[in-house]
Amino acid sequence: MRILNFGSCNIDYVYTVEHIVVPGETVSSSKLELFAGGKGLNQSIAAARAGAKVFHAGCLGNDGGMLKEVLVDSGVDISNVTELDTKNGHAIIQVSSQGENSIFLYPGSNALVTKEIIDSVLKKFGKDDILLLQNEISNVHYIIDEAFSKGMIIAFNPAPFTQSLKSIDFSKIGYLILNETEAMGFTGISDTQLCLDYICNRFKNLTVILTLGKEGSVYRHNDETIHQSAFDVKAVDTTAAGDTFIGYFLASICDGVGIKKALKTASCASAVTVSKMGAAPSIPYMSEVKEALINLKELSLDKRRLTSKKIEAYIEENLKTANLKGIAEILGYTKEYAGTIIKKETGLTFSALLQKKKCEKAAELLTKTTMSVGEIIEETGYANQSFFRKQFKEIYGTTPLNFRKEN
Ligand code: ADP
Repeated sequence: MRILNFGSCNIDYVYTVEHIVVPGETVSSSKLELFAGGKGLNQSIAAARAGAKVFHAGCLGNDGGMLKEVLVDSGVDISNVTELDTKNGHAIIQVSSQGENSIFLYPGSNALVTKEIIDSVLKKFGKDDILLLQNEISNVHYIIDEAFSKGMIIAFNPAPFTQSLKSIDFSKIGYLILNETEAMGFTGISDTQLCLDYICNRFKNLTVILTLGKEGSVYRHNDETIHQSAFDVKAVDTTAAGDTFIGYFLASICDGVGIKKALKTASCASAVTVSKMGAAPSIPYMSEVKEALINLKELSLDKRRLTSKKIEAYIEENLKTANLKGIAEILGYTKEYAGTIIKKETGLTFSALLQKKKCEKAAELLTKTTMSVGEIIEETGYANQSFFRKQFKEIYGTTPLNFRKEN
């Protein structure tokens, strides 16, 4: 079985700046670094490093030399890549000294995948091959229709999610592999179980794999559901976690191992990725994953629960100063990922959780001490009285003084 990945290749230009540029301003950058990226490129690399026979297809610009090199070095066949005399797809990324970033994307060559190019590539593949696809190139609907009519098995990663994907005929998809954000985009449902029910009830026979970050992943095909835990690593950069998972899962399927083993290998490979900085360079080779399968442990439920305890304890101890950066440091995540984890673990956004904890503390001080409302506001770090009163009423349904009287 071969994998044909019709996907994006990007150049990430990462500029280090003192602060993110604001409208009308010019800032000077102290450092420029170039990285290979794009979900297509990452997934091709992951599947090839896992040992699969991978053919990458898509369009590169006249500045895409470094991307070709990365693909070839990882063992990807690039004979179906089209080179165009245009700018390659790229991202301009500013990273400030405070760790914030700002990104804009120019699709460039990735948006120039035409029907003619697609036809000329697909004619070389058939029903024994897997077509892998994401949502970062042009003509995604057309590729699905044509690959399906050739009898190819289609593995679709609907990332990034856009509304146009809702009109895809999912009866043509074999494997739908998506993360929680994408699943939420499709269904509008945040609960994992309900979300899977919704997708699988609508599209019978579709195999869905939902990745859940540190919570692992869930596989569902008709009545069969398999949960795979994440592996226990210190996460330093979660970029390309999903891409590694997809590449390794499909490579394992090509290898003919069962679903359970494929999920376990994919989970372990993506854990190795999150334990290293960067995208493509952090994607491991199979030899490293085999070692990790021996040395790493799957996260137990208790350990996962610990995460929400740690988040709550940190906020309780730092009511006045708690911020996402602080939580990220404690958990070993990036700031952005810490935000996602808090939502996942507690069901609340960081600011909603902070308000809840502040109100809980205020309620405790109201009942257990004689402190005035002003002192309590000071103690819990509220910015002003009216905000405190509004929040308190929303959570406890009464005013602080009535609450004190009633309790
Ligand atoms: P994406 O990268 O698309 O956002 P996820 O965050 O769901 O996707 O991650 C994909 C997979 O990577 C997960 O199913 C899990 O196996 C692994 N993974 C992600 N984050 C971690 C983590 N902190 N520790 C261990 N494994 C992780």
